[in-house]
Amino acid sequence: MPNTPVLVIHGGAWAIPEDMVDAHLRGVRNAIAAGWRVLDAGGTALDAVEQSVVIMEDDDTFDAGRGAFLNREGKVQLDALIMDGATLRAGGVGCVEHLRNPIRAARKILSESPHIYFVAEGAERFAVEHGIPLCKNEDLIIPREVERLREFQSHLAEHEKDLFAPTISHDTVGAVALDCDGNIAAATSTGGTLNKAPGRLGDSSLIGCGCYADNASAAASTTGWGEPIMKLVLAKWSADRVSAGNSPEWVAPEAMNYLQARVQGHGGIILLDARGRFGIAHNTPRMAWAFKTSKEEAAGIER
Ligand code: ASP
Repeated sequence: MPNTPVLVIHGGAWAIPEDMVDAHLRGVRNAIAAGWRVLDAGGTALDAVEQSVVIMEDDDTFDAGRGAFLNREGKVQLDALIMDGATLRAGGVGCVEHLRNPIRAARKILSESPHIYFVAEGAERFAVEHGIPLCKNEDLIIPREVERLREFQSHLAEHEKDLFAPTISHDTVGAVALDCDGNIAAATSTGGTLNKAPGRLGDSSLIGCGCYADNASAAASTTGWGEPIMKLVLAKWSADRVSAGNSPEWVAPEAMNYLQARVQGHGGIILLDARGRFGIAHNTPRMAWAFKTSKEEAAGIER
């Protein structure tokens, strides 16, 4: 009997302000609709997570693709990873500056390269060689982010002490899916943290940190302050707890407790196993999330 598909997504975990709630909810609902169309037509979990993430990269509400945070030199620098739970194949790009949809380049790496991870110019060259056009970095920059960086840099001393407070936006996007063949996949895409040093890579595109998928355990995508998440290899930590017999619903909040208790980190996670069980958790005031199964559909900003 074919499995019934499941799709879960997030659009970042932080103190989403009231005036941005509608845009976040609209964004995650659009992403669910796009990914679900793939699953509903019998498509793969891999295609579904890619499609959902593309929609959020294109939506300038989120810190991914166009509209992402600027680094301290005023440039957009993007990271993304996609992983296939059936084969453990993965594709990642880091520090790319001329790709509208880094997740598409990551997917090409997964499908067409013997390597797993490309950075900077090498990643962009790979993309071009595989039919993905480059854009100008300016095409990814929007006035809201120029203003956000200007404001941040003009109050640097104040921000320094709470540089990674949950009130500072963490709008990374991610998706996990189960398809009707029983395979799971995960994808995460980000512009990283505001005012980051050029070349800084966060958790989002690192295997096992911001993204992981293995049919034998779980698919996970995280968001939040990247450095603490990296220290705990949090996506893999969570998947391992699922393979040890715990439900994703239980593990997701446990991962947030661990993040807080061990390294004083904050963020959010979505976690899904190949039985279709899933968990959504965050230890920030809010996180944009949405899920859809054949029986149920919901979206929200608190969980
Ligand atoms: N985790 C991302 C990073 O540190 C930021 C985010 O989730 O918004 O690069």
